[in-house]
Amino acid sequence: MPGVDRWLVCADMNTAPEDAKRPARDTDRLRVGYGEDAHRLKAGRELIIGGVAVPESLVGAEAVSDGDVLLHALADALLSAFAQGDIGVLFPPDDPASRGLTSSVIVATALERIRQQAGAVEVINVSAVVTLDRPKLGPLRNQIVAQVGRLLGVGPDRVGLTFKTSEGLAQDYVQARVVVLVM
Ligand SMILES: [Zn+2]
Repeated sequence: MPGVDRWLVCADMNTAPEDAKRPARDTDRLRVGYGEDAHRLKAGRELIIGGVAVPESLVGAEAVSDGDVLLHALADALLSAFAQGDIGVLFPPDDPASRGLTSSVIVATALERIRQQAGAVEVINVSAVVTLDRPKLGPLRNQIVAQVGRLLGVGPDRVGLTFKTSEGLAQDYVQARVVVLVM
């Protein structure tokens, strides 16, 4: 098949010498997970993103827990990678135990659940987008990346974080989308 030959030639040309020497990985174990979350913003609440309080925010997420959209989307992505449902199953909103919950506990519980299911699970990397009009989250990037990395046991070079605004289209809510690769 000419198409296949052409692809093989391209693959060879794009393979760096150091990649050729690297032992083959067990890619069968690779899993991708996706999660997203959104909360309405409300005065009188603290805004928490990725386990970090946003000091300049006059509003926070309306939620049963601390309303941390980034960690909720992350926990859902981890569970999704192993088809283990979502955080609503682990922490039902009408369960009094879910009230005021710190979201790092939600992520830790999701990790525990997938480790029960799949054994030792290693996070390869995380790619996340947080959408918030104000305040700007850029100054908190390093803190948030460090905190998410700590929760997952990975270095900051494996936590990609993109901050977006809604350009005024959604000023009253905060949203996060997360893709995670695990094996
Ligand atoms: Zn949430």
